[in-house]
Amino acid sequence: MSAPSITVLATGGTIAGQAGSATRADYRPGQIDIGTFLGDFAQLGVPAELRGQQVANIDSANIGPDIWRELHRRTLAAMADPDCDGIIITHGTDTAEETAFLFDLTLPSSKPVVLVGAMRAADAVGSDGLRNFTNAVRVAADAEAAGRGVLLVMGDQVLSARDARKARTSGSNAFESFPRGAVALATPSTLDWLQPPWRVGEKARWAFPDEFPRVPILHCHAGQGADSVALLVEAGAHGIVLAGLGAGNAPDAVREALAEAAHQGIVVVRATRVDEGLVDREPADEANRFVAARALGPAKARILCQVLIANGITDPDAVQRAFNRR
Ligand code: ASP
Repeated sequence: MSAPSITVLATGGTIAGQAGSATRADYRPGQIDIGTFLGDFAQLGVPAELRGQQVANIDSANIGPDIWRELHRRTLAAMADPDCDGIIITHGTDTAEETAFLFDLTLPSSKPVVLVGAMRAADAVGSDGLRNFTNAVRVAADAEAAGRGVLLVMGDQVLSARDARKARTSGSNAFESFPRGAVALATPSTLDWLQPPWRVGEKARWAFPDEFPRVPILHCHAGQGADSVALLVEAGAHGIVLAGLGAGNAPDAVREALAEAAHQGIVVVRATRVDEGLVDREPADEANRFVAARALGPAKARILCQVLIANGITDPDAVQRAFNRR
């Protein structure tokens, strides 16, 4: 059997980062080009044919609509290429959950699409870049990885884009998966699927946005006033995601201002600033025209909200149905 053929779309991040020394703290992400990285990977002798494309080489804090658009175009092209078995996107971990989820919503699930990053630069002690990348190659090369939406490989865990989030600022276990756990466990020589595929044969759920609507996240805190909402409305928000207290709560003044915004046609989604947990629909949500984010944290809720608005879905009930589906 011939070696699997994988397209690697590189965007930078710590997996392409350099510290300049084994112990320096102020490393720079996005330094190593994909040709050099794949040259290092080739030394490991993993049977895979990799074709690298440099889409960007930056800190993922600077990834946004323009790079998403180009990355999405190249991912679709690779998916349509009969000589490509799977796609790997190398990415900084800071916004990996946003890119992964955006692509999960806007790509078909016909071929494996795997995001991979690293928590330590290539020349730092205990660098996890090549280890994670080798696991990602194993996943992208496995036909069983298709039909699961976009996947994220960090350490030996394979997480689904719908559930993954960065939960810690450092350490090799920086990512968590909620409400479902890891989809698979990978090592360079083994891959164990722990869940059946749930999107076999599915087309893209939503069109990739032509324009990304303005959807700020409002981080809630004790003592917050209605002015925090007014600023966002005045700035032209098309939607607002509340990173609320507890189960998506806010002070009365904020809640009232948000309800007013929702009645003006702004999509208002209640998520939580708490690390993990469901935000359910409440009886008052209907009258307020609020949407409950369910299992999605604020960053992912924002992406779904943008995709829905760009696809012309703004009615709170229709938006809620899309959130329930996750
Ligand atoms: N700041 C880096 C980035 O997101 C962090 C990382 O990759 O882990 O590009």
